[in-house]
Amino acid sequence: MKIAIVTGGSRGLGKSAALALADKGVDVILTYNSRVEEAQQVVAEIEKKGRKAVALQLDVSNTKNFPAFVASVKEALEKTWKTNSFQFLINNAGTGLHALFTETTEEQFDNLVNIHFKGPYFLTQRLLPLMSDGGRIINLSSGLARFTFPGSSAYGALKGAVDVWTRYLAKELGPRKITANAVAPGAIETDFSGGRVRDDKETNKMVSSVTALGRAGLPEDIGPLIAAMTTEDTRWINGQRVEASGGMML
Ligand code: NDP
Repeated sequence: MKIAIVTGGSRGLGKSAALALADKGVDVILTYNSRVEEAQQVVAEIEKKGRKAVALQLDVSNTKNFPAFVASVKEALEKTWKTNSFQFLINNAGTGLHALFTETTEEQFDNLVNIHFKGPYFLTQRLLPLMSDGGRIINLSSGLARFTFPGSSAYGALKGAVDVWTRYLAKELGPRKITANAVAPGAIETDFSGGRVRDDKETNKMVSSVTALGRAGLPEDIGPLIAAMTTEDTRWINGQRVEASGGMML
């Protein structure tokens, strides 16, 4: 029995990852921030696949609530799985910010730091005692940590921080045989950033034109990759940033 925690599993890439994990025989604790119904639908879909799943509320930007969240994870593990540990942590939850450097406010910046860096950093720290030795951590980075487009200075820089942090995690958790890797998607058609890549024709066209495979990404281009990063086949990948963008901005 293997259990994964997927933050932001109610929609987009997290949902695709949760379903792909279930296809690989992994049970899932998924989190949502506000969309409880979407989260419950994902739970139902996973159950239809014959796996177990539980949805828990989590605002990843609010570290003060992490002790209560960890307690709810413990309770779910005991109640649903009769265990006190899980194996895989997918730090995926997050929102976008599209704002030029000159126009980014301190409030927007702090919010983004909390969601994309401080939150995952301390959530992982708090969940580690519940993670089995030999577990896997997968952090969601972004193509924007490698290439640049106007309007993503704070977001891209924070995903760069995620890449660096991931290497430190891999180094420090090696003695417990826990690996840590970052998966860095290119532009993917989800609700992210107001659904820009999916719904804004100009953005979608621009992304397609700078992508070797000639289209924007879909959630299903990423979820199965995340699931694959938990399998035995990928056990020797450690401390890496795995970009999945169809060859964007090569
Ligand atoms: P979506 O907007 O489709 O989904 C976001 C998910 O995160 C939802 O499950 C949402 O929960 C949850 N969430 C949002 N804010 C919070 C919060 N404060 N605390 C906890 N959960 C929260 O986004 P994507 O699936 O596209 O993005 C997932 C990850 O992938 C993010 O880290 C993003 O930065 C990264 N990424 C996305 C790319 C893209 O082009 N889409 C490209 C590169 C990286 P709820 O449903 O309850 O609102």
